[in-house]
Amino acid sequence: MKVDVDAEVARIYADVIRRNPAEPEFHQAVREVLESLAVVLGRHPEFTAHKTVERICEPERQIIFRVPWQDDRGEVHIARGFRVEYNSALGPYKGGLRFHPSVNLGIVKFLGFEQIFKNALTGMPIGGGKGGSDFDPKGRSDSEVMRFCQSFMTELYRHLGEYTDVPAGDIGVGAREIGFLFGQYKRITNRYEAGVLTGKGLSYGGALVRTEATGYGAVFFASEMLAVRGEEFEGKTVSVSGSGNVAIYAVEKAQQFGARVVTVSDSSGYVVDENGIDLDLLKQVKLSERARISEYSARRPGAVFVPAADGSIWDVPCDVAIPSASQNELPEDGAVALVRNGCRIVVEGANMPTTPKAVRVLQEAGVGFGPGKAANAGGVATSALEMQQNASRDRWSFERTETRLEEIMRDIHQRCHATSEEYGDPGNLVLGANVAGFLQVAEAVHAHGLV
Ligand code: GLU
Repeated sequence: MKVDVDAEVARIYADVIRRNPAEPEFHQAVREVLESLAVVLGRHPEFTAHKTVERICEPERQIIFRVPWQDDRGEVHIARGFRVEYNSALGPYKGGLRFHPSVNLGIVKFLGFEQIFKNALTGMPIGGGKGGSDFDPKGRSDSEVMRFCQSFMTELYRHLGEYTDVPAGDIGVGAREIGFLFGQYKRITNRYEAGVLTGKGLSYGGALVRTEATGYGAVFFASEMLAVRGEEFEGKTVSVSGSGNVAIYAVEKAQQFGARVVTVSDSSGYVVDENGIDLDLLKQVKLSERARISEYSARRPGAVFVPAADGSIWDVPCDVAIPSASQNELPEDGAVALVRNGCRIVVEGANMPTTPKAVRVLQEAGVGFGPGKAANAGGVATSALEMQQNASRDRWSFERTETRLEEIMRDIHQRCHATSEEYGDPGNLVLGANVAGFLQVAEAVHAHGLV
């Protein structure tokens, strides 16, 4: 049977929109992958016959739950918790938890959908999932965060397990939150199941390099992209947005590679530091004090703070940009500014930070573009290494883990690049990542029969 693959893809997308109304980020993530798949479906009629794409677009399970908690003044709050167990063809559901007021089902689905292909690209045996809550940890005391985490886990624990579903951190969920979540899981289940969460503290089963892994991995990936062009990080000017876990360690690795990183940001605005970001000060302000990024410029001679309303971080000239804050933070006019100022590589440290129009602007201008599902996969890949260490009751050295991470990032880049060549658009890493990730998941889904 001859199928019109373009019409087939359009039909699947229309169906996704119809069945998932008012979830724009989810639609955007699905569309971006589907746009790469016509070439695949043309070669694999079995995926059309067995509705493999539709099955991958539909989460296996979506959990929404109430999370009541009490603040330090005794006031009661009701937050909403989510876990979307998206696809388990390759392994237990794996993906972070995000605590941020913007979290809703559509956001969790977009992140979970991306996670399926990202996790496949790592080559590790992990399925895709994502979760979180609209709880805002900003400004909350440690005991408020603890009570919230305990309440959240009191519902979520029944869905988890080291062979079932293994959450980790994301925006708003770091080592502190993972510690509280793990403590509650252990208490409720009476099991020391170290591999049920990743991103754990080093004192109780966490892996070295997990904290640094997403940022380091993005820079390793960028370094591979530069190498294809016969270039390297040494002497390059780099712009990083965000100032969370991904951004901080992207700055660290880029600096270790000899680059000058001139920006970081948070939701209030961005900092320009032409002398190169002072990493110790950045860590002091953001990790130790949990303060605003304007605190950095207040203490750093020569650094300038620009409030978000007064300018765009993408106006700052750079050779390499690493958007590492949040979804859709790099819009079309930002991409135009980057191109105008001579930027040559954009690598996504965050999940889907670049809008579709901005991606088009960059690609048409010949700027190398590393999509998040490939470039930021170092975090979840190192989570899989943490699971591996937990399962074998072992601990690896920093050097061993970092070497393995670097190897994984090089493999992902190589696989995306080779796939882009095989599917007729050499160097288009969006196509390469989507097709390589999809094929691996689709083959497993197909092999498992109609489940
Ligand atoms: N939240 C991270 C991501 O977006 C890490 C997930 C994990 O380690 O499970 O990939």
